[in-house]
Amino acid sequence: MSDHDIDPTSPRMAPKPEVTKIAGRELKPSTLMMGHGYDPVLSEGSLKPPIFLTSTFAFPSAADGKRHFEGITGKRPGGADGLVYSRFNAPNQEILEDRLSVWDGAEDALSFSSGMTAICVLMLAYASQNDVIVHSGPLYAASEGFVAKVLAKFGVTYVDFPAGATREEIDAVLEKAQAQADEQGGKVCMVYLESPGNPTNALVDIEAVRASVDAAQLDCPIAIDNTFLGPLWQRPLDQGADIVVYSLTKYVGGHSDLVAGSIAGAKKWMDPVRMLRNTMGGICDPNTAWMLMRSLETVELRMSRAGDNAAKVCDYLANHPKVEGLGYLGMIKDARQQDIYDRHCKGAGSTFSLLLKGGEAECFRFLDALKIAKLAVSLGGTETLASHPASMTHLSVAEDRRAELGISDNLVRISIGIEDADDLIADFEQALEAV
Ligand SMILES: *Cc1c(COP(=O)(O)O)cnc(C)c1O
Repeated sequence: MSDHDIDPTSPRMAPKPEVTKIAGRELKPSTLMMGHGYDPVLSEGSLKPPIFLTSTFAFPSAADGKRHFEGITGKRPGGADGLVYSRFNAPNQEILEDRLSVWDGAEDALSFSSGMTAICVLMLAYASQNDVIVHSGPLYAASEGFVAKVLAKFGVTYVDFPAGATREEIDAVLEKAQAQADEQGGKVCMVYLESPGNPTNALVDIEAVRASVDAAQLDCPIAIDNTFLGPLWQRPLDQGADIVVYSLTKYVGGHSDLVAGSIAGAKKWMDPVRMLRNTMGGICDPNTAWMLMRSLETVELRMSRAGDNAAKVCDYLANHPKVEGLGYLGMIKDARQQDIYDRHCKGAGSTFSLLLKGGEAECFRFLDALKIAKLAVSLGGTETLASHPASMTHLSVAEDRRAELGISDNLVRISIGIEDADDLIADFEQALEAV
């Protein structure tokens, strides 16, 4: 025993119950991010969680080991009540998952090594041979490819509908999907949404999808990729989604220095995915989980600032003679889209499309002239990024599909960061002069 050792029987060192309420007031996520799910007493008083670099965990007794494995293998419902092996879970990831759940008002969350790992393991957990996935369009290109090319190898087919579809249109799509499933001898296994769509910012009516799925009595989860607006500006579980999906690489990580993903929702929807993650791996590593906890402490600050900056920049760009239009959620032109926005969103975000007068050549001149904004794909970081989807992120999308989705040659996608707004405006002003 060294004098550092904690005497667990000392009342001073006993784990403290977590405070989530004061005088009947539920504490807000931004407050909970500093300590939720972590008790310093269990880690030598370390104020911040240490990074647990270990592959495996010692059992207090053989009986404990057996009990933990009953949880891991599903022999006992509710999952493991202790740590076993780092492919299943570990302290940093567990704390991260607790904190991610808070933002979306979810019962449970799972972390992954990338957004795409989260999406692929989620879909694999729910899709069986001959099933049908219904999805909104456009999806992130790799998600769309996973459904259309990888799941197709196992006889899984899909039916898609454009973001912005009405209740009647969604009803018709679900009917078609059910008929397709009946014909294939499978079921409709998931409704998968992405809202807003990238790069057009078209919103999906989650409430209408919920009503449609309920009316059709489909026993499948509604999952939604909330990377562009979450966790601050849209909480899709509140509109009736079952599972919320993130690329944590974007706003949540927020510093363009890590790659990770997550899903969150009710435990009953998480459990099948957790089982498959236990088998396949793909859990976030402890170092990245630690970085994400640091990021979560400032996510509200960063997103609020980026959102304010984007509003100022878009005010400037909207009136510029070389600008044809903006795909910015703070300046929606379509009444139906505005109605969805008003019911679903708490903010317009900081990622938008800028349509220049001209085509690829004008966009390239603009991009090459930028001095503060960096020319890179990705979004949601502290720094402003700009890219040209038609020749970069969406190059692999067929030309007619690109046209259908509104990904034109004169479209530049911009993700606004937390720099000084007037500096950013000065940068865009001089870059537009170069066009
Ligand atoms: C980036 C992104 C993904 C993929 O996430 P990774 O962390 O890069 O694997 C999925 N969906 C959306 C909307 C994204 O922007």
